[in-house]
Amino acid sequence: MSALNSLTLTAIPSEDEALRVPIREFLTQKMKDVPACVRARSWSGCDMNFSRELGRRGWLGLTLPKEYGGGGRSPFARYVLVEELLNWGAPVGSHWVADRQSAPLILKYGTEAQKQFYIPPICRGESFFCIGMSEPNAGSDLANVRTRATKTEQGWLLNGQKIWTTNAHNCHYMIALVRTSGTADDRHRGLSQIIVDLNLPGVTVRPIRDQSGDVHFCEVFFENVQLASDALIGAEGRGWEQVTAELAFERSGPERLYSSIVLFDEWLAFIRSEPGNTPESVRLAGRILAQIAPLRALCIAVTGKLAQGGSPVVEAALVKDLGTAVEQLIPAAIANDLYCRDTQAVPFELLLTLNYVTQVAPCFSLRGGARDILRGMIARGLGLR
Ligand SMILES: Cc1cc2nc3c(=O)[nH]c(=O)nc-3n(C[C@H](O)[C@H](O)[C@H](O)COP(=O)(O)OP(=O)(O)OC[C@H]3O[C@@H](n4cnc5c(N)ncnc54)[C@H](O)[C@@H]3O)c2cc1C
Repeated sequence: MSALNSLTLTAIPSEDEALRVPIREFLTQKMKDVPACVRARSWSGCDMNFSRELGRRGWLGLTLPKEYGGGGRSPFARYVLVEELLNWGAPVGSHWVADRQSAPLILKYGTEAQKQFYIPPICRGESFFCIGMSEPNAGSDLANVRTRATKTEQGWLLNGQKIWTTNAHNCHYMIALVRTSGTADDRHRGLSQIIVDLNLPGVTVRPIRDQSGDVHFCEVFFENVQLASDALIGAEGRGWEQVTAELAFERSGPERLYSSIVLFDEWLAFIRSEPGNTPESVRLAGRILAQIAPLRALCIAVTGKLAQGGSPVVEAALVKDLGTAVEQLIPAAIANDLYCRDTQAVPFELLLTLNYVTQVAPCFSLRGGARDILRGMIARGLGLR
């Protein structure tokens, strides 16, 4: 029980809560003409200029030290920022991974030269990163990673393949989990993390189209890619521990709760209107909100643990598993609600948004770690396995 016992419910400090005002002012202007079915893409939607604008306003790298171009603020400030961006469905996909986990990873494990080289452009919204963990036969079972970096006189020679790499086609760098010694039978031992410049010769990025028609993830092939020796990030052979710590950043944020929030808001606006208002719809809205509210409190509690310098790996798995269940419930419940009424009265924009979210919802409980795997981690954290 120890991991979950150490989680304390907490409030967002007022100085961080105050950040909502300028962010909302900015987003009210910026997002006012963007239709809901586009906003529903949010952290899957990319707009480099939008990311640069956030960078100019000091809203990227908010928790990173000022000496590297960051904001020097607490994780609570970042929570407020991210919550607002998601609620508005802002197109944050370009900088999302770099801001959320690559820069904190480089800060924690990188050399001084790596920090100075990589972090400032991330904070300016000029350098985008992707996560190279999954491979065709290593998704849930990451210890089976076969992409290999072999030591050479010049540095490392990289060969292998990654898959489902979000936004690789728009990114400058990948932080890849690779084998630097041993074989797949050695499981966690012999894995390391390296930073790959995706413009190097021998790198091929092939986008994959999903069932909604969008292109947001890719296959990435490495064929004799020559990397410098400083491509290694952290200690050789410690990739597994580093990746585990990184996943706490990846799984704990409000993005694991708000993937259907634009749809929910659009539907709420409809049921507030005269043709949409029925007692069943109002009850459903209450049921959904009653699930979102405690999960939001849990998310903030995890943020509190990050603020204290903790690495809430099990707690983050819990937030992600429960959060994605609500994210998936929302489109299904709204579809059911709309099905039970005269469809001609339903606004077209709401139907378009529902259509998109319904198509992508199955991936909510896959991306960032599949449900069964997270439940195994939670059971271990509770001492049940
Ligand atoms: C939209 C999207 C974006 C993604 N972006 C990235 C990215 O940027 N970078 C990246 O590296 N990866 C990314 N992924 C990959 C994602 O992390 C994997 O899909 C996920 O970890 C599952 O791996 P898999 O697809 O190989 O499925 P598998 O591991 O084959 O799992 C298939 C099913 O079997 C279950 N299962 C597997 N093993 C067990 C077990 N031991 N016990 C019980 N059940 C089990 C799983 O829960 C799942 O339901 C993305 C995926 C999606 C859908």
